[in-house]
Amino acid sequence: MFHRRDLLKFLLFGTCCPTTHAEENPKWDLTVDAIVVGSGAAGLAAAATLAEGGLSVLMLEKMNSLGGNTVISGGDVAVPGSPVQLKMGIKDSPQMMAEDLIRAGKTVDKERVRFLAQNALSTWKWTQEKWGTRWNPDKLQFDEGQSVPRGLLSIPRSGFALFSSGIEYARNLNVQIRNNSLVEDIFFGPNGEAQGLLVRTRYKFPDPASGTQIKIRARRAIVLCFGGFGADEEFREMVNPSMGKLLATTNQPGATAESIRMAMRLGIKTVDLDQIQALSWISADEIGLGDAWPFIEQYSAFYGIWVNNKGKRFVNERGSQRLRSERLLEEIKNGHRIFGITTQNAIEHQPDDLQATEELKLRGIIRSFPSLEALAVNSSISYTELVRTVEKYNTCVNNAVIDEFQRNLSNTFPLNGTNWFVVEIRPKVHHCMGGIKTTLSMQVLNNKNQIIPNLYAAGEATGGIFGRSRIPCHSLIDALVGGRAAGLHILENTHSKNEND
Ligand SMILES: Cc1cc2nc3c(=O)[nH]c(=O)nc-3n(C[C@H](O)[C@H](O)[C@H](O)COP(=O)(O)OP(=O)(O)OC[C@H]3O[C@@H](n4cnc5c(N)ncnc54)[C@H](O)[C@@H]3O)c2cc1C
Repeated sequence: MFHRRDLLKFLLFGTCCPTTHAEENPKWDLTVDAIVVGSGAAGLAAAATLAEGGLSVLMLEKMNSLGGNTVISGGDVAVPGSPVQLKMGIKDSPQMMAEDLIRAGKTVDKERVRFLAQNALSTWKWTQEKWGTRWNPDKLQFDEGQSVPRGLLSIPRSGFALFSSGIEYARNLNVQIRNNSLVEDIFFGPNGEAQGLLVRTRYKFPDPASGTQIKIRARRAIVLCFGGFGADEEFREMVNPSMGKLLATTNQPGATAESIRMAMRLGIKTVDLDQIQALSWISADEIGLGDAWPFIEQYSAFYGIWVNNKGKRFVNERGSQRLRSERLLEEIKNGHRIFGITTQNAIEHQPDDLQATEELKLRGIIRSFPSLEALAVNSSISYTELVRTVEKYNTCVNNAVIDEFQRNLSNTFPLNGTNWFVVEIRPKVHHCMGGIKTTLSMQVLNNKNQIIPNLYAAGEATGGIFGRSRIPCHSLIDALVGGRAAGLHILENTHSKNEND
């Protein structure tokens, strides 16, 4: 039988059989104990753990700037049983976190999910104690899919805080870090063990001919922490056409698919590559994640409506991430534009984001109008239909009912007054749930489900942990736990090998 997976391989490589790169006695330009591919959270956790154990570690990053998606992320990490939860009297546990992830992801690797939940607290403490990352002692992020508030916030609240402390810790442990170094291939030894890498140094992304190739040997292990492929339109189009060229992304430009293609070409097992998450609450007028998403999510979704340019609502604005993304995508496929609309009431009700709203207005991302008609005319939305939509919505709000989209309208207020706000919304690709299949110790499997000796993977490069849907705040902690687990397993093997030598 010809499976979808085989078809994908055929499209990618024109063959259903894996090829492996083997070269008898390659002439190595450099030898280290361990090589880590990628400089995001997973790579930092793996490299620091290995260096703590006394190994010589080389970290390779293809881009000029380090940090991958980690450095541009929000830096929120989900930790059950954190001191902040204890202080706030919130009861949480690894079991509750695992149940949340399994419920959201449905098709997840349950053992890996439980492993993540059980190791989240100790790994987070490690970042606090060893990396020196600072965490907000008073606040927690509560996202859709979490049964309790669980997201710890770094200080300042940004992935840069996590990244900069991690890279400093790694440097202090003498991890060698090389940027502009693209890993192009893996060398395997006579027993199928990963031996080293073909690396393009002085690489200038995205020019494949830039720089020169060298061969680097890893005595102990290689850890693949090359992140996701959210910025690779062509690959997305191939694995999941509905997440293809139609959508922009929140990811850094280097989140491309050459590394996952390499893995597939080498017969490494991959799972869930078609499971790609789009965020529904992003401004169409900003690059990447942008700054308008809190306005879209807090104001227009909570205290307003989302309409298409025909003036019609099409979704429960408070529905699940997946539901909203799917409905928004349908609208876009039908050639519609989408707008979030709210009024002064919302801003007054929750004045925390007042300054941010003013700044977004100055930049023209959010626009305000004295009337619904002015808003409709200036945004090319059908006014006649929009009036009907708003009237219908207001009636439901006044009667505090659950509306036709299953949205409970008992806790919001009608749209009226002389200050109307509008922002154009467009979903963007945010996270790749699929990737390399690993064991709990993050050892990489081949297509025959066999462990490939000395080869590990962690972070967004791996698949199976989030299944169909990732809960926000849970991927950085997965990258940290996975990277550390890989490092600890390599150290364990190294020590037992040394004892046997
Ligand atoms: C805007 C944004 C906000 C986010 N906010 C959060 C949040 O608040 N909380 C949360 O949990 N998650 C968040 N996420 C998701 C999270 O940031 C990522 O899942 C996580 O950073 C992945 O870490 P990683 O180490 O696996 O990969 P990355 O951090 O992406 O690092 C991978 C690195 O590998 C490099 N690389 C790839 N291929 C090669 C190669 N062949 N050779 C050499 N180098 C290579 C890449 O250039 C990249 O630098 C966010 C994501 C985005 C885009």
